[in-house]
Amino acid sequence: MTSVNYAIAKAPEMGRWDVLVCGGGPAGVTAALSAARQGMRVLLVEAKHQVGGMGTSGMVSHWLGGRTNDGRWVVGGLYGEFVRETREKGISVVPDPADYADVSYAPYGLHKGQLLAGVPFDPFRMAAYLEQKLVDAGVDVLFETTAVDVVVEEQSDGRNRVQRVIVAGKDGLGSVAACVVVDATGDADVAALTGCRYEKGAEREGLSPISLIFHVENVDEAALMAYVIDYDDPRYRKLLPRLREQGVECFNYQWMIFVKMNRSGYFMINGRILEDVDGTDARSRTRGYIVERGKIDGTVELYREHFPGCRDLTLRAVASNLGVRETRRIEALRTLTVQDVTEGTRFPDTVGYSSYGWDLLSRDGTDPMRGVAKPPVVPIPLSVMIPKAVDNLICPGRAVGAERVVLGPIRVQAPVMAMGEAAGVCAALAARSGAPLASIDPDTVRGKLELPGEEL
Ligand SMILES: Cc1cc2nc3c(=O)[nH]c(=O)nc-3n(C[C@H](O)[C@H](O)[C@H](O)COP(=O)(O)OP(=O)(O)OC[C@H]3O[C@@H](n4cnc5c(N)ncnc54)[C@H](O)[C@@H]3O)c2cc1C
Repeated sequence: MTSVNYAIAKAPEMGRWDVLVCGGGPAGVTAALSAARQGMRVLLVEAKHQVGGMGTSGMVSHWLGGRTNDGRWVVGGLYGEFVRETREKGISVVPDPADYADVSYAPYGLHKGQLLAGVPFDPFRMAAYLEQKLVDAGVDVLFETTAVDVVVEEQSDGRNRVQRVIVAGKDGLGSVAACVVVDATGDADVAALTGCRYEKGAEREGLSPISLIFHVENVDEAALMAYVIDYDDPRYRKLLPRLREQGVECFNYQWMIFVKMNRSGYFMINGRILEDVDGTDARSRTRGYIVERGKIDGTVELYREHFPGCRDLTLRAVASNLGVRETRRIEALRTLTVQDVTEGTRFPDTVGYSSYGWDLLSRDGTDPMRGVAKPPVVPIPLSVMIPKAVDNLICPGRAVGAERVVLGPIRVQAPVMAMGEAAGVCAALAARSGAPLASIDPDTVRGKLELPGEEL
């Protein structure tokens, strides 16, 4: 039986590809590249005007989770290639923790540990770099093109198969046929359209806190660092209440993060929070953009007047994509649980790792998992990406099957790229053989990845 939704009858056929990747964030770019490098014909459709997802359009230009605090790389493969090449081109920097051994904080996140282990980059040059990688690999790329509907065929065993994905672009609707579909929308948009079950956001009504990230320049880095070190105040948890006591109008959150980018005086700011946004709802998202963009001028003024080192600070750019931390998490073959993470479960189908910690905001700015011990490296199994009920759909990135608080360690961009690369390999194997994704041998997938050694 084929289910046909409202848009499909009108959509002209655009062609057939081995692998269709929906969404060009860290998961989608790596999935498309790895499938193409396995010899597949690949189409990547991206709703925005560029690839890179939250790292470029969302301007969270700081790849986290790929390196332990003591400097061991836990994500290799395409991520390793991107880090090496962009560092050489001056697009990214790879801070050396040894350079900051003698101070209590470093400018990369005003922090040592997992933020200093990240890789900050220029989002505009990064988008161009990633696009060229896709073009060089022969991936067909379509921007401003959104997956909006699906044609699903129910098979004799009751399982579903995606036959077509309907996309909407400047030129109207189009219908794309593919052997395997990679849902890298971050929101499991395609999976949800297929009827795949999912959970969404926080317990209360599926909502989550968002931020609209912006970048600033002309920060006096020495003055900023002197304050942070002297007052032991890396996230301004002390300064903000002090300002409020003095009657200064501050934003509503308890802390903020300044992260130095790829040159001196240039910082990403992740600070303002707007609660209760549904990242899968156009009205809710629109409210997020309008409220948060409207506050940026005032926030910049606040920094100039009251934050050390910020007197001459100028706004460089505001993200064109809203910073949505979480939406849907699919019902997958396996759900990654808190117990898996705290007990360091080893999986037979591990295809990637994360070195990141708990990180999911609650309404009062605290992390419910703070203080809960976990091993420094979290393995990520292939089976969390494969929806239970659909044979030819795989879902790498922040919409994988996981208990909500487990998303913190695995949703940051380096592990997301590890997932994307593995999903691309798995998609290629399934497209070539016609077999369901669930039946692909994980060892064959693993054999095509560059995974870190057993010492993890
Ligand atoms: C405020 C904030 C701060 C963060 N800070 C960091 C940080 O400092 N470092 C870090 O590593 N991670 C950070 N993260 C987490 C990280 O950025 C995301 O979890 C990660 O980017 C998820 O990757 P993804 O590829 O799954 O999704 P995304 O990066 O969201 O990419 C999804 C892509 O799909 C596109 N898309 C969406 N729907 C469709 C559709 N229907 N059809 C076609 N295209 C579609 C989107 O435009 C986007 O380009 C942060 C996240 C937020 C919100």
